[in-house]
Amino acid sequence: MSQRIKGIGASAGIAVAKAFKLEDPILEVEKKTIEDPEQEIKRFTHAIVQSKRELETIKNHAGKELGEDKAAIFAAHLLVLDDPELIDNVKNKINDENVNAESALDDVTGMFISMFENMDNEYMKERAADIRDVRKRVLAHLLNVTITTPSMITEEVIIISEDLTPSDTAQLNRNYVKGFATDIGGRTSHSAIMARSMEIPAVVGTKMITNKVENGTTVIIDGIDGDVVIDPTGSELDDYIEKRYKYIEQKKEWAKLVNESSITNDGQRVELAANIGTPQDLKGVINNGAEAIGLYRTEFLYMNREQLPTEEEQFEAYKEVLSKMEGKPVVIRTLDIGGDKELPYLDLPKELNPFLGYRAIRLCLDEQSIFRTQLRALLRASAFGNLKVMFPMIATLDEFRQAKSILKEEQQKLRNDNLNVSNSIEIGMMVEIPAAAVMADQFAKEVDFFSIGTNDLIQYTMAADRMNEQVAYLYQPYNPGILRLVKNVIDAAHKEGKWAGMCGEMAGDETAIPLLLGLGLDEFSMSATSVLPARSQLRRLDKTEIADKMDEVLQLDSAQQVKEYVQKHFLK
Ligand code: PEP
Ligand code: MG
Repeated sequence: MSQRIKGIGASAGIAVAKAFKLEDPILEVEKKTIEDPEQEIKRFTHAIVQSKRELETIKNHAGKELGEDKAAIFAAHLLVLDDPELIDNVKNKINDENVNAESALDDVTGMFISMFENMDNEYMKERAADIRDVRKRVLAHLLNVTITTPSMITEEVIIISEDLTPSDTAQLNRNYVKGFATDIGGRTSHSAIMARSMEIPAVVGTKMITNKVENGTTVIIDGIDGDVVIDPTGSELDDYIEKRYKYIEQKKEWAKLVNESSITNDGQRVELAANIGTPQDLKGVINNGAEAIGLYRTEFLYMNREQLPTEEEQFEAYKEVLSKMEGKPVVIRTLDIGGDKELPYLDLPKELNPFLGYRAIRLCLDEQSIFRTQLRALLRASAFGNLKVMFPMIATLDEFRQAKSILKEEQQKLRNDNLNVSNSIEIGMMVEIPAAAVMADQFAKEVDFFSIGTNDLIQYTMAADRMNEQVAYLYQPYNPGILRLVKNVIDAAHKEGKWAGMCGEMAGDETAIPLLLGLGLDEFSMSATSVLPARSQLRRLDKTEIADKMDEVLQLDSAQQVKEYVQKHFLK
């Protein structure tokens, strides 16, 4: 019997493949006395050999498919397995205390982990994380439990998991991973955003998919309507193959607009830009005819590695993006770590409310060496294209002023060293905190541009976690309260002769686009795959006609009423 599970469509497209469950294994260690220590040491050595072989495979695979920097983490794990201090200590413990390998390994690694964790040196602290990972792998071999890593997948699958972190998602190989479905998450969680830029169909927030699917079962992912079909019947398969065919045909129609301008039916031009996470995403930007990059989320440069990227590494990445965009605008956002994007090597304290915590610009203004390194890399790269710098999570004018003055200081230093830095870099901010949206008139006097980050602005305004499917019903982009805030920001920018863009997912949403156009948004920045559908839609819309109706829309009393109004009047 087939079964249909409803979730949230996170990345459009239809995929069919066998399920591959990505689960954290349960590794319970029981202390046992053993009779034959020699035999036990052999068993331990065998687990080490197997772990090494597995790590070699993963490392080579990751190096080829995902880049050497992502493979470095596995090289570090191999080094741990070659460390005689650790290995000999385990063997001695088995020998001297007649205990089983699992418990000897657990004790010895536990001792090393707490020793490294208590060191003051950041590099040494990172070793604790490596040892923890290695312990998991060797224990799994001793206990005959399989551990799965996304980068190990070498056949076509649909991943089923409770959640996927952005760093798991970054390891997915799109040749094999045809789609994924998770229990938790929303449309604006970062793994969903990455799925869209990788063009992997995805459904998130199903609440229960991991309980319903067995490994190897055939699964259909419908990322357009947010459905997962488990063990489909022949006729369901036929229906979805038909639906996929229609979607591909539709994409071919959109593709005809790749070199067209983004102009409305009444001749008004807007800018359609794309959001990226890494220079690899540039291909999608170009293939989808985006006119600019409206958001480069630089934090992905800092992830899946063991230490902060150097100024040089960052410079190379920014330079690549700026030069490949050939003078088109590129808005690069400074580090926005925190929330669902973690950097384990920074070893930040666990917080009760990470989305409201020590993150983004708050961390950068505090840890200035991290911030200054990034700013220098950005400023040096500015010579290679049309750079605009944007600060995330600005709540107060004082934060914006501080960030800007640090940028100016670094700019002056580089000039003193005779380095080439553009002198026309625009400096703007994300508007994603309600206080900043309300105070937009004040900010507008000091910024060069705004980019409205609705992913966060909605969660903070509605007090509804963007990751939590239980409160997804409150995550309402069309709520008149949100629209009024957006209007306030756009009007404030225009009053000061500045431009206002939006880089939250709302900018690419079919129902929101007419409203944003009517409110006068200048730049719409979205997942690259949304650019062509948005261009096609814009060409059918009349901006003046919609603008005339916006007062009426803003007086409606609910998101539902707004949605119905848009469907009736603007979605023709
Ligand atoms: C936003 O908050 O809308 C945004 C674009 O930033 P992020 O999704 O990275 O938080
Ligand atoms: Mg944000």
